[in-house]
Amino acid sequence: MEIVCAWCGRELTHSEGEEAPSCGLLRSHGICEDCLESLVSGGGQPLQEFLDSLGFPVTVVSGNVEVLAANHSARILAGKNGDDVVGRLLGEVFECVHSRLPGGCGRTIHCSGCAIRRTATDTYLTGRAHRRVPATFTFGPEEVALTHDFFLSTEKVGQRVLLVIELPDEEPD
Ligand SMILES: [Zn+2]
Repeated sequence: MEIVCAWCGRELTHSEGEEAPSCGLLRSHGICEDCLESLVSGGGQPLQEFLDSLGFPVTVVSGNVEVLAANHSARILAGKNGDDVVGRLLGEVFECVHSRLPGGCGRTIHCSGCAIRRTATDTYLTGRAHRRVPATFTFGPEEVALTHDFFLSTEKVGQRVLLVIELPDEEPD
């Protein structure tokens, strides 16, 4: 089946074995690399609508893991539906237990080991994509903090990083 970009009509299929140069994460979502980059760089409502159309949590972050955009699923996951999350650090948005410490997200002694920050920063600096990196996230006030395991995938688009959060499959009934 031929898949074309819903924005420009260009064919999206790659020859067998060829690694998609950049937009592999969202390849199955009907957008080509160029259109994805212009959407992500342009920001605003068109980007928001595109991200919201995806059925999984995805955020666009800077090299310092500042949230530049977050879709509906990501806001729900963070318990921030309706709140403005743009311009805040990812750890603040998801209420990482360490982001409440002096210095805040990225500046505590725990942050150098943070898989989320490490993975996103590596993608920003090297352009390398990461797929399904296991990560653990502890959020909430320290005394009642909850820990969640999930998978993280990242990809550089322009000067920004797409960050997809994948929760482990639910246990079958
Ligand atoms: Zn396109």
